[in-house]
Amino acid sequence: MARDLGPKCRLCRREGMKLFLKGERCLTEKCAIERRSYPPGEHGRGRIKQSEYLLQLREKQKARRYYGLLEKQFRTYYEKAAKRTGITGDNLLRSLELRLDNVIYRLGFAASRAQARQLVRHGHFQINGRRVNIPSYQVKPDEIITVASNSSAQQTIRDATDLVSSVAPWLQADHDGLTGKVLKQPERAEIDTPVQEQLIVELYSK
Ligand code: SF4
Repeated sequence: MARDLGPKCRLCRREGMKLFLKGERCLTEKCAIERRSYPPGEHGRGRIKQSEYLLQLREKQKARRYYGLLEKQFRTYYEKAAKRTGITGDNLLRSLELRLDNVIYRLGFAASRAQARQLVRHGHFQINGRRVNIPSYQVKPDEIITVASNSSAQQTIRDATDLVSSVAPWLQADHDGLTGKVLKQPERAEIDTPVQEQLIVELYSK
């Protein structure tokens, strides 16, 4: 499956904030945002004329990069969210949060979403006892996520759990037993993604 393979720290610098794309490094002083918080490129420190469109575009790019999706994938999430009842922005964030790779990351079983995606692709996780290797799989409430018993990544996963002290209130994690569960679909207030989703909806609904 296609994915963005460019330099990750550039993406954070472009959005002007930490998007936590590199795991443990993001928590250290080596983080590029700590050292060079201005946008990348020759004109990075120049003045950029702000416009409504630019604000909306940046917000969409930030969310897309945060979850590690390509434009087409992200737009598909928006289109499905817009068709469902309820607030489109909330629907969008909820379905992004319930992706299996994101849930694995939020449970603390991976140091970054990129690592979570790779672990899922390589078949290290099971849902209700069955191997699932599709990162975009939408996890449903009460489904039990476990590390495959023959997984060679158990130590990597244990190391990742050392980086988190608590998990989101809509999740339940057992870091000793390496199991987790989605307790319910998350409310907007329970999602700490630093985006104004209304701007994304405005951009796509033009
Ligand atoms: Fe972003 Fe992490 Fe790089 Fe810091 S180290 S700029 S948070 S990807």
